Amino acid sequence: MSLAAFPGSVHVRAPGKINVYLGVGGRHDDGYHALATVFQAVSLYEDVIATASDEFTLSVSGVEDTSAVPLDDRNLAMRAAKMLAAATGYEGGVHLEIRKSVPVAGGMGGGSADAAAALVACDALWGTGLHPPRMHELAARLGADVPFALHGGTAVGTGRGDQLNPALAHGRFDWVLVTSEEGLSTPAIYARLDTHRSQSGALADDPPMSLDVPIPVLQALRAGEPRSLAASMFNDLEVPALLERPSLDGVIKAGLSAGALSGIVSGSGPTVAFLCESPESAHYVQSELMDAGHAALHVHGPVSGARIITA
Ligand code: ATP
Repeated sequence: MSLAAFPGSVHVRAPGKINVYLGVGGRHDDGYHALATVFQAVSLYEDVIATASDEFTLSVSGVEDTSAVPLDDRNLAMRAAKMLAAATGYEGGVHLEIRKSVPVAGGMGGGSADAAAALVACDALWGTGLHPPRMHELAARLGADVPFALHGGTAVGTGRGDQLNPALAHGRFDWVLVTSEEGLSTPAIYARLDTHRSQSGALADDPPMSLDVPIPVLQALRAGEPRSLAASMFNDLEVPALLERPSLDGVIKAGLSAGALSGIVSGSGPTVAFLCESPESAHYVQSELMDAGHAALHVHGPVSGARIITA
């Protein structure tokens, strides 16, 4: 199929995520860990504009430093476009313009959001009309967090984090994010977790190869109660992230003393996500953290996944 559905450009927006809960089990032979996680899509977005072209080209800009983002085939958005072309037999190319707001290597799935946005944008631009289950399949091949960036909302991820089931979430949750100038490598944080577990005897038994999200997390989301959610938030990657970046401990303490209900490292960090009681409380926590010299953003969730803004 090569009939372009949209002759010029397609603009797609996809959200970053917070892991409200992240339990990490044992390591499979392929290197992936068994996970049980709850993702929530938040109102910090990546914008991808796909423009018709004979070649595959890419440009990246952002509110923060984007020099760590690869511009070649290692870029997840580029891989997504090429994978879609190969899967559908599309013979042309695309220029992808990525405008990043999600911090690079921040534990918020920015690259995964770019990949999800590129899939949706190219599918619309090229008129390839991929069915949703096939789109989900391509997304899962690109990375464990990509299917969630397609769907958005609040979802439970099991297996390697890519087996998604929507979670009922009532109302809106207000978060303050403290971002760091320098990212953390996700593989390095998992490696630290493995070393820490084996050296410290942190687990009495071998880590489980299949995990569940604790019921209180799901109940708090369903009830829309930030206080209950704050009491049940947890991240197994927090210990290795703090070992790698000890200064994050001070960030968590600063947010809590400013009035956040709870603070947690998001994914593999270094972004710290503070859950607040209300929009007003989040506004106060944000300004206190900024006065103390931190880069703090007020976002809310859940928001929808990758969607077309204009064509
Ligand atoms: P994870 O999804 O593992 O939690 P993250 O949110 O911590 O990742 P990302 O910003 O998604 O971090 O990217 C991590 C690394 O992936 C970057 O350091 C970069 O080398 C590579 N990468 C590939 N494509 C992209 C992209 N489109 N945007 C950002 N990084 C990308």
